[in-house]
Amino acid sequence: MNITKFEDLPISDNIKKAIADMGFEEPSPIQAQSIPVILSGKDVIGQAQTGTGKTAAFSIPVLETVDPEDKSLQAVVLCPTRELAIQVSKEIKKLSKYMHGIKSLPVYGGQPIDRQIKSLKGGVQIVIGTPGRVIDHINRKTLKMDNVKMLILDEADEMLDMGFREDIEMILNKTPENRQTTFFSATMPKGILDLTRKYQNDPEHIKIVRKEITVPNISQYYIETRNANKLEVLCRLIDVYNPKLSVVFTNTKRGADELVSELQARGYFADALHGDLKQTQRDIVMDKFRQGTIDILVATDVAARGIDVDDVEAVFNYDLPQDEEYYVHRIGRTGRAGRTGVSFSFVFGKEMRKMRDIERYTKAKLVKHSIPSVADVEE
Ligand code: ADP
Ligand code: MG
Repeated sequence: MNITKFEDLPISDNIKKAIADMGFEEPSPIQAQSIPVILSGKDVIGQAQTGTGKTAAFSIPVLETVDPEDKSLQAVVLCPTRELAIQVSKEIKKLSKYMHGIKSLPVYGGQPIDRQIKSLKGGVQIVIGTPGRVIDHINRKTLKMDNVKMLILDEADEMLDMGFREDIEMILNKTPENRQTTFFSATMPKGILDLTRKYQNDPEHIKIVRKEITVPNISQYYIETRNANKLEVLCRLIDVYNPKLSVVFTNTKRGADELVSELQARGYFADALHGDLKQTQRDIVMDKFRQGTIDILVATDVAARGIDVDDVEAVFNYDLPQDEEYYVHRIGRTGRAGRTGVSFSFVFGKEMRKMRDIERYTKAKLVKHSIPSVADVEE
């Protein structure tokens, strides 16, 4: 069966109403294929590229499965970063806006644990958390896993990359064996398949294939420029294209801070997002970016994972990423939910070879872009 409408999916009217409020017209392929299988109770491995709606693909079945009368913890979603945990939690809150008696809570490091403990004591059925903080709560007995029916590993590939394997296994081992286990990921490296073999029960692998790994509605350019000129080139591109919001990637935290100072000195509204910032600082930066108080976010890879802000119209690889997969994640910050976006990668000299590797990996063509002239900027 080929489902193309939310109407055809076995989901309750309250959730359908919330979906309509969120502006989703039809389910994305990963949603259409995963939702009925997860609802049937099967374990699922859901694989689809970034920006294809994996969050709702597991959040809708979670909300359908959780019993609002039962105040114990019933579903746990594990996410690689705090930002992602907050984002997933927001999506679950939006989807459950017409449901009664459902409580969900994001738990992550960097936020005072006392506040989380207090909220948990009020009875939370769905927890969305980073592995470290979830373990912390398990050890403090402020999270009781005995009644967990569903465990979801979101962005499972990222979690393994970030070294969470042991933590994840520990959490899996604390939950009842008859739980339903679901993995969502953009890629399925061997490490994940090992985990699924060990912890899933006859899983169904749902894979949405695309010839290109990157999303097709992003125009991808490269620009040849030496280090000393990058700042000037970046400023000209921003002035010419005038993107509503931009994310600029650097490979180091220090590089991000330095670039922000330089952009601010030139009068741009920019701020940095990287792993050295405290959680509250990160939240402030993300709020400013979402609201448009700043329109340039300078980020490192780890901090920017999974960030989902609709109006990002341009992504700049100020430093070319070390790894092809990072390239895919970076440019996936634009062109979300079928919108168009543009990406610029700055390369010089032997980096051209790295860029060709990226092209081979993504099966996309990066088109050469010239450096805008001063006249272009003034137009
Ligand atoms: P992924 O986890 O696959 O990277 P997300 O779940 O973060 O993707 O979704 C990407 C964006 O698409 C979000 O802004 C989300 O609200 C939006 N989205 C999700 N499902 C739909 C849908 N069915 N129709 C339109 N937009 C959607
Ligand atoms: Mg996701």
